[in-house]
Amino acid sequence: MSGAILVVEDEAAIQELIAVNLEHAGHRVLRAASVPQAEEHVRAALPDLVLLDWMLPGTSGVAYARQLRAAERTRDIPIIMLTARAAEQEKILALESGADDYVTKPFSPRELIARIKAVLRRRAPQLTDDAVEVAGLRLDPTAHRVTGNGHPLEMGPTEFRLLHWFITHPERVYSRSQLLDQVWGDHVFVEERTVDVHIRRLRQALEATGHDKLLVTVRGTGYRFCRELP
Ligand code: CA
Repeated sequence: MSGAILVVEDEAAIQELIAVNLEHAGHRVLRAASVPQAEEHVRAALPDLVLLDWMLPGTSGVAYARQLRAAERTRDIPIIMLTARAAEQEKILALESGADDYVTKPFSPRELIARIKAVLRRRAPQLTDDAVEVAGLRLDPTAHRVTGNGHPLEMGPTEFRLLHWFITHPERVYSRSQLLDQVWGDHVFVEERTVDVHIRRLRQALEATGHDKLLVTVRGTGYRFCRELP
């Protein structure tokens, strides 16, 4: 499983322990010891998940979670709170601040990674290694393989990422700029026309088994991936 994880933790030893374990699990790790440092990372590029310590110098983790949820650009980032507080009231407060989950210190690295995987599976399934199948079209991230009714379909890496996004987010309409943010990464300066080029290539790759019909153009809006063939 990949994905960039922003670790916001002021205790150097804990930050190091978490970072080493996440990197070992295949994640890219961004480190911050305070909210201002975290903000700097988030301004540069959106992480795929934020692991946020409750007790930080200055602005607290709970306050920062609220801040992330309040801003349109950061509202959908999955958040896991790290807390030394096991009291019921504190757990409720962590979840009410917008966190997806919380992990109580001390925790085992294995538990932490399992929680991260669970949150990503729920919130960002395109970042997991789980194979996905829709209407006979199957995408296997581990083998980096796509098959239509069992027949291998060849496509480039961008078309593969695009298909992974669509197949894990069916029946929703995405504009070109949303697809750029989600598939190419936000703050990437690519023309919106580029999206159309890759959509065309993806359709060509899916034509052999008729699965190109799953990818529908929504006039004036963008594209939608259907769960069922028409
Ligand atoms: Ca702390």
